[in-house]
Amino acid sequence: MANQDDKFKRVISHAKEYGYVFQSSEIYDGLSAVYDYAQNGVELKKNIRDYWWRAMVQMNDNIVGLDAAIFMHPTTWKASGHVDAFNDPLIDNKDSKKRYRADVLVEDYCLKIEAKIEKEVKKAHKRFGEAFDKAEFLSTNPRVLGYQEKIDSILSRLGKSLENEDLVDVKTLIEELGIADPLTGSKNWTDVKQFNLMFGTKLGASAESAMDLHLRPETAQGIFVNFLNVQKTGRMKLPFGIAQTGKAFRNEIVARQFIFRMREFEQMEMQFFIKPGTQGEWFKHWKATRMKWHLSLGLGDDNYRFHDHDKLAHYADAATDIEFKFPFGFKELEGIHSRTDFDLKAHEEHSGKKLQYFDHEENKSYTPYVLETSIGLDRMFLAIFSNSLVEEELDNNTTRTVLRLPAVLAPFKAAVLPLVKKDGLPEVAKQIVEDLKWDFNVAYDEKDAVGRRYRRQDANGTPFCITVDHEGLEDNTVTIRHRDTMEQKRVKIKDLREIIKKEVDVRSWLMKI
Ligand code: ATP
Repeated sequence: MANQDDKFKRVISHAKEYGYVFQSSEIYDGLSAVYDYAQNGVELKKNIRDYWWRAMVQMNDNIVGLDAAIFMHPTTWKASGHVDAFNDPLIDNKDSKKRYRADVLVEDYCLKIEAKIEKEVKKAHKRFGEAFDKAEFLSTNPRVLGYQEKIDSILSRLGKSLENEDLVDVKTLIEELGIADPLTGSKNWTDVKQFNLMFGTKLGASAESAMDLHLRPETAQGIFVNFLNVQKTGRMKLPFGIAQTGKAFRNEIVARQFIFRMREFEQMEMQFFIKPGTQGEWFKHWKATRMKWHLSLGLGDDNYRFHDHDKLAHYADAATDIEFKFPFGFKELEGIHSRTDFDLKAHEEHSGKKLQYFDHEENKSYTPYVLETSIGLDRMFLAIFSNSLVEEELDNNTTRTVLRLPAVLAPFKAAVLPLVKKDGLPEVAKQIVEDLKWDFNVAYDEKDAVGRRYRRQDANGTPFCITVDHEGLEDNTVTIRHRDTMEQKRVKIKDLREIIKKEVDVRSWLMKI
C-alpha cells in the first residue's frame, strides 16, 4: 500500500512539475476536486479526445457527432431519473467528521481481500516456478476460493441493499465487516443517507422569474433529446450512433483521488440506437470493440479487466465496466450499458413528443433500444499518465525518469536541440522546427547541456530528440534519439518528417483495432 501511495504521489507531483495538471485556483489554496490542464496537459487531453473521436466518428460511417449545450431544460433531469435517483449513499464518521461513500467503503474492504488473493498467487508462482498455472490455481486453491466467495457475497448483499434502497442494511453491513474510518480507525458511524449529486444553478435576471436548472451530470441526455433531429436530418438508419464529448458536473461526496474523481470533468459518450431485441449482440460487440481501442495504446493487456454489474441502474438491462489498474488498484475507467428504451420512452412521456423510428423494412414505428459506451476523458488521462511514468535503472547505475506516453498521444512529437548555442547550429535547428511544425507539435530547446535536455524531454514524454551538430552542417544530417530505447541514429534532415510520422501517425495506431 505504501508503495502504491508513493507512486501515486509521484504521478501527481510530476503532473504539476511538467505542466500537465494544476490544482484549480491554486493561489487561493485551490478548489477541492477541480483541476486545470496546463500547457502540456491540454495537448495530451486533446490528443486522447481526438483518438477517441476518430475511432468512433471518423472510422464508423454510421456514427455521427453532436455538441449539445451544458444547460438543458429542467424536465430533462426529471425524465432521465436524475432528480429522483442520481444519489450516492453517504455516511459520516461521528468522531473524525469525515464523509464517505458507503458503497465505496465496502468496495475498498473487498479490494483488501483481493490483495490477499494476489499475494497467494505471487507466493504460489514463486513456489511452482515455470509450471505455475494461474487460472487453475485461482479456481482450485481453497484459501483463494474462500476469499473470492467472501468478496462475492459481500458485493451481492451490497448490490441488493442498494437496489432495494435498504440503507439500514448498508450500515449493518459496514458494522458487521468492522469497517473503520480509513483516516482515523474510528467505527463510530452515522446512518447512511442518500445525497443527490447534481449541481443547481439559476437561469434568468430576476429572482422571481429565474428558472432552476442543473449543470448536466452526464452528456448522454443531450444525445437522447436530439435523437430525432439527428436521425431525420442525417437520414440515419438503425443501427446508428451519436457521439459527444463534453463537460459534466457532479457534486461528488468523496473526491480525493486527483483527476480520478472530479466535480467538473469531461466525458466521451456514444449512444448506439438499435432494434429492440438485438441488445445482447450489440452489448457483446461494443464490449469487444472498446476493449480493443484500449489495448491499441499498448499500456499492457494485464492492466484491464471487465467487471460485470450485479446491481443494475434503473435504466439498464446489462452493464459492464472496463476497469484499469490505477496506482491505487483496479477501478472503473469506462462503462458500457445496455439502456433499453428507458431514456427515449421517458422523454417521450415528459415532452409529449413522439421519439420513435420508422422502420421501412418492417413498415412500422417503434422506440429504439440504446447501447451506451461512456468513458471519462480525465480518467483516461490519469490511466495513461500514471502508467507511462517510470523510473528506469540505467546500465551505469543511474536512473532516469521517463514518461512513456504512447507516441500518438504525446504533447510534443519531437524536440529539436542545437548541440551548442553558436556556430550557426541554432539557426539550422530553428529551420527544422519551422519545417516540421506544419505536421507535428515540435519543441525547440537550447538551454543546458544536451544530456540534461534529453532527460527533460524524456520526463516530458517527447518521443524524439533531434540534435543538430557540427558534422550535420556539412552533410545536412542530424542525430535522432528515441525516447524509449535511447538509441541514436544519424539521418538526413529531409527524412525527419517520414521517420517521425511512422511512429506518431494515428492511422498506424488505430489500425491495431
Ligand atoms: P463511479 O462509480 O466511479 O462514480 P459512475 O459509474 O458513476 O462512476 P458513469 O456515470 O458510468 O460513472 O460515467 C461514465 C464514466 O465517466 C466513468 O466510467 C468515468 O470514467 C467517468 N466519470 C464519472 N464520474 C467521474 C468523476 N467524478 N470524475 C471523473 N470522471 C468521472
